[in-house]
Amino acid sequence: MRGNTTVKDAIMITDFTYYCYRCGGKNSLDVEIPNAPDCRHQEITCSSCGDSTRVLLAGCPECEKYVYWINDLNIPNLVNGFAKYMVHSMQTMIDRAAQQGARISIDTPEKYPIKATCPCGARFAVELIIPDLA
Ligand SMILES: [Zn+2]
Ligand SMILES: [Zn+2]
Repeated sequence: MRGNTTVKDAIMITDFTYYCYRCGGKNSLDVEIPNAPDCRHQEITCSSCGDSTRVLLAGCPECEKYVYWINDLNIPNLVNGFAKYMVHSMQTMIDRAAQQGARISIDTPEKYPIKATCPCGARFAVELIIPDLA
């Protein structure tokens, strides 16, 4: 557990339902979901076939609903890869600038937004924290 965010608002979902994409089995669980831009990573293990799936959950700041993404791509890892790529290209730029005697400063993004639209019509973004690679 990381204690880096203070959850101001969270919704308690007592029947988050997920149908296993492998066997179609119905799974439900109780989960506390922080409102966007915070989000929660939840691992679900299918009670029928034991297959596990990661989901990313975020509460809508406008209503009591929530959105979720099936996270089999493992978004945090993608973001991590993206951040490494960014840092690598920036380093190339920085090295080049240094050779030319120039001085540049770059703000490394700390958050990676994922856009979402709630069933109520609200649009918001969930921000994934990009790990500090320094
Ligand atoms: Zn299953
Ligand atoms: Zn909503």
